[in-house]
Amino acid sequence: MSYSDILIKSAYLLGAILFIIGIKRMNKPATARRGNQVSAIGMLIAIVVTLLQLQIITLPEVMICIAIGSGIGYYVAYKVKMTQMPEMVALFNGFGGLASLGVGLSDYWFKSIENGMVIDNITLVSILLSVLIGGVTFTGSYIAFAKLNGRISGNAIVFKGQHILNLLLLLASCVAGGFVMWQQDMILGMYILAAISLLLGVLVVIPIGGADMPVVISLLNSYSGMAACATGFVLNNYMLIVAGALVGSSGIILTDIMCKGMNRSLLNVVMGGFGQTSATAVTVGGKSDLVVKEVGVEEAAILFESASSVVIVPGYGMAVAQAQHIIKELMELLLKKNINVRFAIHPVAGRMPGHMNVLLAEANVPYDRLLEPDQIDDDLSNTDIVFIVGANDVVNPAARHDKSSPIYGMPIINADKAKTVIVSKRSMASGYAGIENELFGYPNCLMLFGDAKATLTKVVNEIKEM
Ligand code: NDP
Repeated sequence: MSYSDILIKSAYLLGAILFIIGIKRMNKPATARRGNQVSAIGMLIAIVVTLLQLQIITLPEVMICIAIGSGIGYYVAYKVKMTQMPEMVALFNGFGGLASLGVGLSDYWFKSIENGMVIDNITLVSILLSVLIGGVTFTGSYIAFAKLNGRISGNAIVFKGQHILNLLLLLASCVAGGFVMWQQDMILGMYILAAISLLLGVLVVIPIGGADMPVVISLLNSYSGMAACATGFVLNNYMLIVAGALVGSSGIILTDIMCKGMNRSLLNVVMGGFGQTSATAVTVGGKSDLVVKEVGVEEAAILFESASSVVIVPGYGMAVAQAQHIIKELMELLLKKNINVRFAIHPVAGRMPGHMNVLLAEANVPYDRLLEPDQIDDDLSNTDIVFIVGANDVVNPAARHDKSSPIYGMPIINADKAKTVIVSKRSMASGYAGIENELFGYPNCLMLFGDAKATLTKVVNEIKEM
């Protein structure tokens, strides 16, 4: 091994170690920012070393690709709203898959078709996996993106024989792959495999919808990691193997956490059908048959002032209203009055994993006040006020008892157990799952209608004047 080889391999090893340290630090909010920086240094090392190791592609070509990619990335990241982050993650996963598909195909073309080289079995299997998983990830992520931003219906699209068809397609992809293995220079087999993988991506994601989408995004994230890992074997690039394996495994762990958060098995999610039917009335245009009690700003301020414990449950509406800063102000105000304030954070609140934590961290809400549902559940019945800010599905008691509800079985924050529940939202409109929330009609529940930021600002001003 030459001196430069040792240098390059050591640099890749260092980069991989930095990725591992970075990911380890991301498991606590307090160290997450530093974890991100450490991983970014690892990525910088990877890019520099890859540039030094250039073989097929020239430096100016790499620079042009980096400039185009960075330009698009900067523009998209600059423009994207916080509430659109899941769509962006879906797109990123898709691009990762497309890159793996492209690298797999071009490596095969370059070695086998153009130069008539004999590809060893491990590399050939890696190319096939890179193409298959990359293709599924690409179109699957695009469908998830289109579902999330409303370009196509977010509901499950199910037809008869769908799963059999998927199974047959998977078998057909194995047959195509088998032919490529048998007859090394069979580009047609490779094209058929690529086409099947693209079709499979669409068919695997369309039957999944409604509140199962977060699980799919996280699963596709894991697929993009596995595709990158396979590509690492194709290119013989250790860093890509390690980084891909990290993304693949952490994606699977996150998927498992989210499945548990919704009390669904992964098989159940992947088989799809969620959001297709709903026995519970769907609120359209903010109208509902529930009889609810309204509370005004002044009355809400008095209730807060006289409470001794408050639990705030944030949801997607907090992100829409960007109400995190005013919530922090409310928390500080109440703490000064010796009122105990804590936050109950549901794992699938908002529209992406950790959505609420990110927003509350941005507003500098101390991490030790953020509790997971099972950490706070026992205390809820002794809590004076549970204040729900823009959350809906994650506090819907139907999940506990209504077997016909699409969210039946999903663990929720049992907000209804509190002495008083105050809900800040604009109307009676449903949440992501599209179902009515019976909690709003409970005797201990009061509706504080209006945009969360505007209403909370008024409540805070009211408390200040007391
Ligand atoms: P929901 O989507 O159930 O409800 C959000 C509520 O916020 C709506 O009912 C809406 O009511 C209210 N709202 C919207 N804008 C405002 C505003 N400006 N001010 C006040 N309220 C507002 O949110 P949850 O967080 O409870 O649940 C998340 C749902 O999203 C779950 O079903 C989950 O499965 C799903 N999901 C989660 C993802 C994740 O990774 N976390 C990703 C994709 C989906 P109104 O219009 O009346 O104001």
